Amino acid sequence: MLKIKKSNLDKLYAAISERQILYVPCNVAGKPNFAVWGEGADVDLVSLKTVKSAKEVFFPQCEDIASFRKEGKNISVKSEHKESGDFVVFGVRACDCKSFDILDSVFLADPVDTFYKTKREHGTVITLACSKPEETCFCSAFGIDNAEPEGDIATYFAGEYLYWSPKTEKGLNLTKTLNSLLQTATDKDNDALEKEQKKIKEITGRLPLYVLDLSYWEADDLLEKFNSEKWKALSESCIGCGACTFVCPTCQCYDVRDFDKGHGVQRYRCWDSCMYKDFTMMAHGTPRPTQMQRFRQRFMHKLVYHPSNHEGVFSCVGCGRCVEKCPMHINIVKVIKTFGGDDK
Ligand code: SF4
Ligand code: SF4
Repeated sequence: MLKIKKSNLDKLYAAISERQILYVPCNVAGKPNFAVWGEGADVDLVSLKTVKSAKEVFFPQCEDIASFRKEGKNISVKSEHKESGDFVVFGVRACDCKSFDILDSVFLADPVDTFYKTKREHGTVITLACSKPEETCFCSAFGIDNAEPEGDIATYFAGEYLYWSPKTEKGLNLTKTLNSLLQTATDKDNDALEKEQKKIKEITGRLPLYVLDLSYWEADDLLEKFNSEKWKALSESCIGCGACTFVCPTCQCYDVRDFDKGHGVQRYRCWDSCMYKDFTMMAHGTPRPTQMQRFRQRFMHKLVYHPSNHEGVFSCVGCGRCVEKCPMHINIVKVIKTFGGDDK
């Protein structure tokens, strides 16, 4: 275990960004979001949740994928795929880090998404334990430990220090380049860290959503769930704004569009939402014409279809962003509890 004084973190950011691009939660326009670090950046490692998750670093909200140019009778097609340079994402919470496994199971499965793959290969993830978990958090329901996050390097705040624990080869390689800034932790430090982790676990254990019964969703009765009358009442107030999907670290749907630039066509992809009525629009129209059907799709995907195809893994990490951001106060917790017979 290594450590660095909190007051030296700017030096650490500067040392990392000398060699690689560094993404870190920063207050931009008054909201915490991952942004490229530069001198004077308003780094925010206190806010628990960035508005958008760390997913955006690997799967950007908008990304060019190809361009087309017409010259005479010929059309040239150019892929926009580029090898990524090495980069670091610092301050990723345990839930967001777990979401990368879910995204990997989709984007790295055949056919591999090369745009995503190159970023995953070149990105080093530094996680940060959640000193103050909030009421809307329920990562524990999915077996995630917010006091002991995964990642290439796990970090923890305790007292005056940030503690630093490399976990993978990528993490060790980055750590070697920072040796002059990091000190070895003493036994006293280890005690302080243990105390901090115990405190995090105690707070987490008292959270209102700490115990969330998912057993209903583990049963193999897809049609019964799909045809349930409960979807109608649950979805009644959904206005289809899509906020829940845009803040979600595990949502991975995107649309592909062409933009006429006047001297050629740019093809790009951008995040899409299954809550929108033109989502997966086809020549005959939309396959899900009612909001109830779209709403059902979102939660059936997270709680039934994804686990059925991925060894029981739910497509939710309990970050609680949708619980905070839905303007109509609908969310996955309400769905889980309503079906589980525990609608409090
Ligand atoms: S469904 Fe909600 S709680 Fe679950 S990962 Fe997505 S935003 Fe977070
Ligand atoms: S945020 Fe709420 S209202 Fe908006 S689409 Fe999602 S569930 Fe519906």
